[in-house]
Amino acid sequence: MGSIRLEKVSKHFGEHAVIPSIDLEINEGEFVVFVGPSGCGKSTLLRLIAGLEDVTSGRILIDGEDATDKPPAKRGLAMVFQSYALYPHMSVRNNIGFPLKMANVDKAEIDRKVEDAAKILNLTDYLERKPRALSGGQRQRVAIGRAIVRNPECFLFDEPLSNLDAALRVNMRLEITELHQQLDATSIYVTHDQVEAMTMADKIVVLRAGNIEQVGSPLELYHKPANLFVAGFIGSPK
Ligand code: ADP
Ligand code: MG
Repeated sequence: MGSIRLEKVSKHFGEHAVIPSIDLEINEGEFVVFVGPSGCGKSTLLRLIAGLEDVTSGRILIDGEDATDKPPAKRGLAMVFQSYALYPHMSVRNNIGFPLKMANVDKAEIDRKVEDAAKILNLTDYLERKPRALSGGQRQRVAIGRAIVRNPECFLFDEPLSNLDAALRVNMRLEITELHQQLDATSIYVTHDQVEAMTMADKIVVLRAGNIEQVGSPLELYHKPANLFVAGFIGSPK
């Protein structure tokens, strides 16, 4: 479970065709990275898949089923935001359990699921702390915990590491790819960072002005870039 297919998906904001028309196939269990310069439509595409924005035209299929008109909560996906999206006044336990509380899950089950997620993320000793008493990496793990408790088939990450320092980013990249494997999930990871794309992805989708320039493995893109844009983008990491 966790395959996603986009068929001629477009998104217009007023006159502006941010996504003119995209076809894309994401297979079960893949770690797919959307990469491209700022403003090219990465977040918009992710939000369309999540159901946080409506498509202008086209279809989104999840596990072969038309999900185009399904609300976000019915899509079996969980979005991981940057760690600053945590609730500062709530403990780690309540931050992680929040989506379950909203879904009226009973308290004993929330506790059990939060504690399972905390174990996976090495947060067991920090459950009663407030986010401000955590390191940047721990906060990011709490943000991931909030996605894990919902047992999603697919994780959607939108530049989750962009407010962490460089050394921590390297660690968190590894943690996220390990977690992806451990949970047997499908993941879509948005970044403008070529190094993140090259080191994390099974499959990279290179976007430019709302169009797909190329889809391929890091090695394919590196050795056989479809055009100068891809070559320049992949070949010149920061
Ligand atoms: P990225 O994540 O790649 O930086 P975005 O998907 O955020 O790019 O934005 C792509 C384009 O869509 C930008 O030109 C942005 O200004 C525009 N855009 C995004 N969201 C909206 C919106 N809600 N209303 C109008 N324009 C938007
Ligand atoms: Mg963005």
